[in-house]
Amino acid sequence: MSIWDDDPTRDAVLIAGRKSGLSFGQIARRLGITRNAAQGRAFRLGLCGSRPTGPRIRRAARPEPILEPTLEPEPAPMPEMKPVAVSNPTRLIDTKPNQCRWLLDGYAEPTVCGADGFPWCPDHYARCYAQSPKRRVA
Ligand SMILES: [Zn+2]
Repeated sequence: MSIWDDDPTRDAVLIAGRKSGLSFGQIARRLGITRNAAQGRAFRLGLCGSRPTGPRIRRAARPEPILEPTLEPEPAPMPEMKPVAVSNPTRLIDTKPNQCRWLLDGYAEPTVCGADGFPWCPDHYARCYAQSPKRRVA
């Protein structure tokens, strides 16, 4: 005995539902059974293998959520950088170990600071590792 044998009108509801374009989930809700049970019965009745013939009934589309624009705080201004005096500009290819490798602008060839310090002299090291305003301790 199955639920299909108990109530023969279920098959009629299933067949009518498929013909009217209802999905298996919608038919199953009407019959009080699972979607898989409705789909299995339809398969055994030979109703599967083709798409429903009726117009497809779709759910109403959900309204798009309205997103409030979020205002991010203004970033803190960059701290003023005092220029570093470069006393020994060196072509990058001519650098020796323990020379600063800070790349300088305004030269035809790649040129670096060349002061003592690897990879940077103390002034350029301070530029590379400047603390962010959040971490700065007053
Ligand atoms: Zn340097």
